[in-house]
This record gives sequence, C-alpha cells and structure tokens, in this order.
Amino acid sequence: MKAFSYERVTSPAQAAAAVIARPGAKFVAGGTNLLDLMKLHIETPLHLVDINAIGLDRIERTAEGGLRIGALVRNADLATDARVRRDYGVLARALVSGASGQLRNMATTAGNLLQRTRCPYFYDTDMPCNKRAPGSGCSAIGGYSRQHAVVGSSDACIATHPSDMAVGLRALDATVETVNAAGRTRVIPIAEFHRLPGTTPHVETTLELGELITSVTLPRPPGGRHFYQKVRDRASYAFALVSVAAIVQRDGSGRVALGGVAHKPWRMEAADAELPRGAKAVAARLFADARPTEHNAFKVPLAQRTIDSVLNEARRAG
Ligand code: SF4
Repeated sequence: MKAFSYERVTSPAQAAAAVIARPGAKFVAGGTNLLDLMKLHIETPLHLVDINAIGLDRIERTAEGGLRIGALVRNADLATDARVRRDYGVLARALVSGASGQLRNMATTAGNLLQRTRCPYFYDTDMPCNKRAPGSGCSAIGGYSRQHAVVGSSDACIATHPSDMAVGLRALDATVETVNAAGRTRVIPIAEFHRLPGTTPHVETTLELGELITSVTLPRPPGGRHFYQKVRDRASYAFALVSVAAIVQRDGSGRVALGGVAHKPWRMEAADAELPRGAKAVAARLFADARPTEHNAFKVPLAQRTIDSVLNEARRAG
C-alpha cells in the first residue's frame, strides 16, 4: 500500500472541504472496497478523510411518507430495519443477497453506490484497462468477458456495476442527496447517478470533486409485491450474472430493474409498460440495443427467464 495521510472529520461540510483542500484526497467510511483497491495499488489516494464521525447514520421518515437513509447507515442495519422490510422489500432482499454478513456490517449506503467494478482486468495492474488507466485500452474486449455487460457498453469499456442495493434503489426511484464544499446541496435521481462508460469509463458517477453523499431517499412505499432474484455462479458471496429487482402490482403493472448486465442498474420505463404482456416483451425492450460478446450472450435469455420466473411468482402470490 502506498503511504497516505489521514484525518478524521466531524461534519459533512468539514468532510467536503477537507477533500477539496488536498489534491488526491478521498473519503473513507466502511472501506470494504477502497482498502482492497489501495492494497493492490489500483486506488492511490494521497490523503484519506475519515467520515465515520459525521453522523448521517440514521433512517428517518420524510414528510412525504418515504424514508431518508443516512449515507453512513450500514447495509446490515438497512436490510433489517422493520420499515424497509415491510414497505421496501425489494431493497431488503437486494441488500441481503450482496456480499457477506461481515461485509454488510461494515459497508455503508453511500459506499455501496460508489463501489467499483469487479472486472478482473481492472484488478490486474499488468493488463490494459481504460477504467484504471485511461487510454490504455480494454482487455475485456477480445478477452474473457463472461461476467461483463451486454447492454449500454462502449468500445472503451464493457464492465458491469457490482451493486445489488443500487438495483433495488433503481426499482424504487430513489434519490441521492449530496453537499459540496461550498455548502450547496443537490438531489440526484438514482437513474442519473451512475453513468454509462462512453469514452470516459473512469468517470463512473455524476458526483463532482469533493461532493459528499449525505443520504438516499425513498419515495412513499409503492405497494405491490417485491422481488429480488439474483443468478450467480455460487449460492453466496458472488456477484450477479443477472439480477432482477421487480415490484409487481395486482393488476400486473409494475417496474423491473436489472443488475449484472450494464455499467449501471438497467431499467427502462418503456419496458415497465410491457410487464402485463410478459417477460419476452419486457426483455425485448430492455435488450433492444444489446451488444453481447461471444462469452456472455447467455445473459440475454437468462435475464428473460429470470424475469419470467419473477412474474410467475407474482402470479402465484395473487
Ligand atoms: Fe477495464 Fe472496463 Fe475493460 Fe474491464 S471492461 S478491462 S474495467 S475498461
């Protein structure tokens, strides 16, 4: 690990100012992804700003009847919150399908959104990777790409986003609240928070330098039946090949977001509108512009079958 300096701050404004003040500084909270990346010299911050003491660790009702989740609420605490389990089952299920119990005890809401891809070439510093070293090339294109994106990818990067939680949040139309060093706050719809790779795959979110996530807000409970089905190579502690977050109402309408297929949680409102017509129609919309590789073309029919499985479960539940 490369040497770095460290400070502990006690307020969100102080945190944002501290990162702006030192070039190469980064926030750290649970550290479950960042510290691994630092040990591998993939992330080399010169200065770490520890935000664990700034508060933001509560889950509160909003005036609109939703929930505001502090940025530092641990994934385990969020998944077991009675209000989340009752009203936002898709989120609770997505959370418990991610990582391991130990990791969920440390990982935070904001950190989960900001975790980096698990593309194996991103982690291999001997290989070209546009996300790790912009302009160096993409080893996955033409390499082994079973885990990679089938839609929304570019000629520069075909990585997927690894978060399960973010897929649940996308189905719920959550918003991300931030503050910057000047004290300016911002509300970012989750649909606009993560970026597609384009020509700059190293720029993964719409956050600006020094902008700190303060909370994630869920709108009023959407009702309906909630599902999160994750298909992976082994039963636990593995990233999704395909995951389906769905909320299905009694009349057959609803929402579907996919994980494991793109650089961000993948949802299209036009695909939601196809839900009453079944999985084939939904998948046709979601994958209309798919560009799978020879290794991961299986993800398109796998996603359709997983959506079908969820819709069958919804029908059986009545
Ligand atoms: Fe890097 Fe993206 Fe290519 Fe993976 S897919 S090697 S993360 S540029």
